[in-house]
Amino acid sequence: MDFENGYVMTIDGADAPGEGQVDVVNPATGKPFATAPRAGAADLDAAVAAARRALPGWRATPIADRRAALIAAGNAIAAHAEQFGRLFTREQGRPLALAIGEIKHGAYWMKATAKLDLPVDVTEDTEQRRIEVHHEPVGVVAAIVPWNFPFLLAIWKIAPALLAGNTVVVKPSPFTPLCSLKLGELLREFLPAGVLNVISGGDELGPMMTAHKGSDKISFTGSTATGKKVMESAARDLKRVTLELGGNDAAIVLPDVDVDAVAEQIFFGAFYNTAQVCIATKRLYIHEDVYDALRDKLHDIARRVVVGDGAQQGSEYGPIQNEPQYRRVMALLEDARSNGLTLLQGRDVPTEGYFIPLTIVDNPPEDSRVVQEEAFGPILPLLKYSDLDDVIARANDSEYGLAGAVWSSDIDAAVAVAKRIETGTVWINQNLQNTPYTPFAGVKQSGIGVENGMAGLLEFTQPRTLFIPKVPQAAE
Ligand code: NAD
Repeated sequence: MDFENGYVMTIDGADAPGEGQVDVVNPATGKPFATAPRAGAADLDAAVAAARRALPGWRATPIADRRAALIAAGNAIAAHAEQFGRLFTREQGRPLALAIGEIKHGAYWMKATAKLDLPVDVTEDTEQRRIEVHHEPVGVVAAIVPWNFPFLLAIWKIAPALLAGNTVVVKPSPFTPLCSLKLGELLREFLPAGVLNVISGGDELGPMMTAHKGSDKISFTGSTATGKKVMESAARDLKRVTLELGGNDAAIVLPDVDVDAVAEQIFFGAFYNTAQVCIATKRLYIHEDVYDALRDKLHDIARRVVVGDGAQQGSEYGPIQNEPQYRRVMALLEDARSNGLTLLQGRDVPTEGYFIPLTIVDNPPEDSRVVQEEAFGPILPLLKYSDLDDVIARANDSEYGLAGAVWSSDIDAAVAVAKRIETGTVWINQNLQNTPYTPFAGVKQSGIGVENGMAGLLEFTQPRTLFIPKVPQAAE
């Protein structure tokens, strides 16, 4: 398979060229380097129709065979990790080793998810009857994916949806379509035609997908603002939705922390993928006893690490992925600057492309935009606190509730704090962790529903309850 050229959609197991083209820009240069197909309404109709036609056969395929297909697909992805990784770096910007890391992680996730089983729950088993709850596929799933983890987050949807017996139409972000298109091409060998369709396009395609009458469920990852539109659109046909949305995650550093031991990890948890991570630390609350020491250490790291073209050896952090996001983050920086906030910046960055220096904001007011908004870019506010109850209240004072972290040398004390954080996930002395067997869900405006684990798998099913009598019906 040629990863450098020939980006086509996969509809009904075959190439589909689309009705036009969308430029794909390398964020390290700001220049287009490839084009992806632009799906029109007819392409979307064809993809949904193919998924609908493939549904009866796929849902009737024994789960063991669906599992085997996903494991074979996962192995094929792993075997192409280098090629996918190089393409990933060009379209997404992340340094190559970390890009290959996402592909390998995606392959692992596909195979690990495939090992889950669909339970049959027995809610009553008496002399008179047995009540069994079977978990049936929802139907045709429309999967909509963002640009920050374009490969892994597609697999978070594709793997459980297919394992549960659904068929899928997946749409990558217009900014990062290429790896998904190649994924569609690669997986044709392992899946019957129509089971997995991959379509790409411009900004118009997402709303077209959510409004399409032919799908039964929308699995969406993206911003909270878009998530609300998705839900509104899905409501017209009462389509099922799973929404994984934005976050403004707080981490709380307790006074007993060993600053030298934790600084690198805290830094990585905030700036990995140039801070374009839904579950990145976006507000770092540090106890006043250790504030100066940790701030200085984090600033040292920012001055040491290299931000550059992900295709160049030595780059540790890449550019912002796309121009609109670059402008948003620059506006936030400008707002911080014009309000007189203290910015502690890292090394200089390339002048071409969408690069922004890694930036720490030294104790800004709680109500400043850099604290209140999800930056989704490399601006990390550090906030000083002295009172534990007060800092927990500040951490929780957000419309978001995706994840958070607590750092301390005393694990019991950290757990006690973690239990008071109003988010779907809280890490203790770690961050950015997820597993295929652990539910991931945002509370408040960070989402609706669950991904991963058994709960995530069941989101792609609906119950069918059988009431089975044990005594024959009495003769009339
Ligand atoms: P986005 O909401 O702009 O776009 C996400 C996807 O939705 C893209 O494929 C886009 O083309 C599509 N889309 C845009 N408008 C649409 C509409 N009206 N109807 C249907 N689809 C539409 O998000 P983004 O900028 O790509 O991603 C960044 C955001 O995603 C951040 O807020 C981040 O926190 C969030 N995110 C959340 C998670 C999570 O699991 N909770 C993971 C990654 C990213």
